[in-house]
Amino acid sequence: MSGVSGSLRPLIAGNWKMNGALGDLGVLGEIGEGAAEARGAADVLMCLPATLIHPATQRSDLGEMAIGAQDCHAAPSGAHTGDLSAEMLKDAGATAVIVGHSERRASYEESDTRVQAKAEAGLRAGLKTIVCVGETADERQAGLADEVVLRQLKGSLPEAAGDWSRGEIIVAYEPVWAIGTGLTATPDDVAQMHARMRQALSSWFGEAGDGVRLLYGGSVKPDNAAALLAIEDVNGALVGGASLKAETFVPIIEAASAGA
Ligand code: PEP
Repeated sequence: MSGVSGSLRPLIAGNWKMNGALGDLGVLGEIGEGAAEARGAADVLMCLPATLIHPATQRSDLGEMAIGAQDCHAAPSGAHTGDLSAEMLKDAGATAVIVGHSERRASYEESDTRVQAKAEAGLRAGLKTIVCVGETADERQAGLADEVVLRQLKGSLPEAAGDWSRGEIIVAYEPVWAIGTGLTATPDDVAQMHARMRQALSSWFGEAGDGVRLLYGGSVKPDNAAALLAIEDVNGALVGGASLKAETFVPIIEAASAGA
C-alpha cells in the first residue's frame, strides 16, 4: 500500500449479522489464535449481535481482537423500545459500531441523515465508528456509482471534522450488489472508488480525512482477499459470511498482515 493512506494500519472487521449464539463463541478463540499467529500486523474487530457482545468480551482467548456492534440508536437513552444506544453498547464492552449498513438502509429505510446521527452517536460514546456506503446494481449500471457513493459519504459522516480525530471514523465501501452474493467489484472499480473517496475525505476534512481507513466489503473471501487488500487506498475489509468461521476469516487476516 502507498500514498497518503499507506501508513494506515489495516483493519479486518467481521460482521456476524443476525447469526450466532453463546455456543458459537468458541470461534472467536480460534480466530484470536490465528490472528496472533499472523503477528498482529492488522487490527482485527468482530461486530457481533448485541446479545453476544458482553459474553464475548469476557473471554480470555480473544488475543488482540476487539469486539464491536452492528448498529446503534442516535439518542443516548429514552423512549425507544427495542433500540440500543451507543453508550449501552460501550457499556457492554463494544469498542466499535457499524452504522449505515446497506441491509439497514434497505430494511429500515435509513437515510443519510439518520446514519449521520448514528455516526455522531458512535463518536459521542467513544466508539470507533464504521460508516458504510455503496451503490446498488441499478445505480452502477446507470453510471451513477460515484455520485451515489460520494453523496452518501458526505451525508452520512459527522459534519464537523473538529468533532473527530484521526482513526475514530472508518468508512466501508460496500457495493450493495456484492454483499452476500459471491460477486466482487473488479480491482479497477475498487481502486477508482477508493481513490475518489480518499480525495473527497482529504478535501472535506483535511488531516482527519487522511486518517480515515477505507475498507472494502462485498464477498471478501480467502481467495480474493490478497488482491483486494493490495489495492492502493484499500486499508482493510468488512467481511460478512466469511467471518463466521475461523477457517475462512483467519486467511483474510493473514492476507492483510502479509501486505501491511
Ligand atoms: C457485509 O455484511 O458487510 C458483507 C460484506 O457481507 P459478505 O462478506 O457476506 O458479502
